[in-house]
Amino acid sequence: MIISKSMNTKLNEQITAEFSAAQSYLAMSCAFEGMSLTVLAKLFHGQYEEESEHGLKILKYVQQVGGTVVLDAIAKPKATYSDAKSIVQAALKSEENVSGMINDLVALADSEKDYATRSFLNWFVDEQVEEVSSMTDLLNLVELADGNMLQVEARVRHQMAAAAS
Ligand code: MG
Repeated sequence: MIISKSMNTKLNEQITAEFSAAQSYLAMSCAFEGMSLTVLAKLFHGQYEEESEHGLKILKYVQQVGGTVVLDAIAKPKATYSDAKSIVQAALKSEENVSGMINDLVALADSEKDYATRSFLNWFVDEQVEEVSSMTDLLNLVELADGNMLQVEARVRHQMAAAAS
């Protein structure tokens, strides 16, 4: 095993955090669907898939470096939201929280001179910059639309089409 026991434990916690984030995004996607905001539902379903991939990416790394994967219970997601804006606010808060956890992992890797894990985590550092940025943009868009969620959906649909092409 080329990572420490404490790093193994912290990476296992991160796996659970990523799957909890996935579950949370799926619940948010369902909440958007319940509001007939199908474009946002699709966007957040994509986030659910991304977070699941993040969890699996760390899981594979732990196996690759000879660690032991221990999965934990994932947090029960919030099921009901008062409006679309509060969902986006919660998603942004969650991404900021995950960014903090990734930073803590980087700090641990540095303190342990664990350059393998430090290098592995670089992808996640960059990914979190992207996630916080895109969720901040979405929140700004929702605030700009001032309650007109159909306008938000039209813009997001356009962005998703552009990203897919
Ligand atoms: Mg993630």
